Amino acid sequence: VTPRLLVLGGDAAGMTAASHVRRSAPEVEVVVMERGPYTSYSMCGIPYYVGGLIESASDLVVRTPEEHREAGIVVHTHSEARSIDAEARTVRVVDLRDGTEREEPYDALLYAVGAHPTLPSVPGADEHGFGVRTLDEGVRLRHALSRLQPDAKIVVVGAGYIGIELAEALVQRGYRAVLLDRSAQVMKPLDPEMAEYVEKRLVEFGIRVSMGEELLEVRGSDGRVTAVVTDKGIHPADFVILSASSRPSVGMAVRAGCTLGDSGALWVDGRMRTSVPGIWAAGDVVESVNLVDGSRHNVQLGTHANKQGKVAGIDLVAVLRGEEGGDATFDGHVGTAITKVCEWEIARTGLTERECVDGGIDYAAVHFSGTGTAGYLSDPGIVHVKMLAEAGTGRLLGAQLVGNEGGVGKRIDVAATWCQLRLTAQEAQFIDLAYAPPFGGVWDLLQIGARKLVGQLGLSPQL
Ligand SMILES: Cc1cc2nc3c(=O)[nH]c(=O)nc-3n(C[C@H](O)[C@H](O)[C@H](O)COP(=O)(O)OP(=O)(O)OC[C@H]3O[C@@H](n4cnc5c(N)ncnc54)[C@H](O)[C@@H]3O)c2cc1C
Repeated sequence: VTPRLLVLGGDAAGMTAASHVRRSAPEVEVVVMERGPYTSYSMCGIPYYVGGLIESASDLVVRTPEEHREAGIVVHTHSEARSIDAEARTVRVVDLRDGTEREEPYDALLYAVGAHPTLPSVPGADEHGFGVRTLDEGVRLRHALSRLQPDAKIVVVGAGYIGIELAEALVQRGYRAVLLDRSAQVMKPLDPEMAEYVEKRLVEFGIRVSMGEELLEVRGSDGRVTAVVTDKGIHPADFVILSASSRPSVGMAVRAGCTLGDSGALWVDGRMRTSVPGIWAAGDVVESVNLVDGSRHNVQLGTHANKQGKVAGIDLVAVLRGEEGGDATFDGHVGTAITKVCEWEIARTGLTERECVDGGIDYAAVHFSGTGTAGYLSDPGIVHVKMLAEAGTGRLLGAQLVGNEGGVGKRIDVAATWCQLRLTAQEAQFIDLAYAPPFGGVWDLLQIGARKLVGQLGLSPQL
């Protein structure tokens, strides 16, 4: 009998797993149910498509349903999974084009349906607000924007990285952008003093930033937005984009008996198995361990979705062949993230100071600014650095970098490696990092931070 893998969700996690199983186990029938028209697309590229840096939405599609079919995967688009019967091992699926329903059997099920935006429950938000999560929503947004006046005023609600990337895209297209959030700072994954650099840059770039404002209503008439009402006043507006946070889409899996973790996302083991036999989960729907402090979080990033999909695929091949399990595990993350907005690079890894305080960790923090290249070169740029290490051991706990020059991305990856491998600041001082004047000073910024931490914690050797 041909074993049957059913995958729910045809993007990052789902298609990575499906492709791996297809390549590694020709004897397995691989079937994917995808609600939308696209598969394997880059949601991360949506702000750049909205901003016009990418001309066609199809450029964001890494592999079309047809290409997957040619590779031997049975892909059903416009097919929405509605419920899972874990006993019978079937999924009820609705074809969204004609409303017909059917049962799809499985031997193993991968649940990879991603996350959904939590739109603010205020009057007018549903009717007039525009959410951006999927590529077809990105296409609709760009189309809707093209019908506005060239200098239209657009309010973006939500100052996380996606909201900021969208606000930048709007300014680049000539619109007036207002970024609004109830939180006191932009980019909550940063400590407040680091977020201040970002906010300052957004304002310089032409984005109006209004923090600490609670959205109360989106007003409109004749199907068009007229204003956004907050607890601080009224912003006349021609368009509203709601970029609030997203929640993992766990409902169907929970109804099938899958256990939730404390974060509200699905609990899975290292091989991406849920608590229900026969069901695996990966991507934005699951939680994973922060390897720095052992806490569990739902981190919605493509980088994790791809790795988790691969690990699930490896385990699925083994299990569908009757073996005990795959040899790969996804052990966790260290909270690394990066974006580039308004020509500035913004990145973090490990824990922030706020997370250290909340977790009761005894730490030292250093905060300083340096140049991105050797200071004597013209236009050496500026990089603001914050680093944290554990008291007593000197173990590096985290780093945040905000800068207009000088390889913020390169450096955050070095810091992430230090955090994940549990390196101490004492050891970090001696790591053999690359140096030449166009890349930094002879003491790399991260090593300057490590030296400062060693000094502040009274550890040895102090360089
Ligand atoms: C605008 C934007 C920018 C981003 N930028 C970055 C970035 O720069 N770096 C980064 O690492 N991450 C980024 N992300 C996050 C990243 O895209 C996600 O973490 C990643 O796509 C998650 O993969 P996934 O497979 O778990 O879920 P998704 O990619 O959301 O895929 C889930 C799929 O399931 C389908 N689906 C949902 N419900 C059903 C159902 N009931 N039946 C069938 N199909 C269903 C959906 O249509 C979707 O195609 C960004 C996200 C957005 C929205």
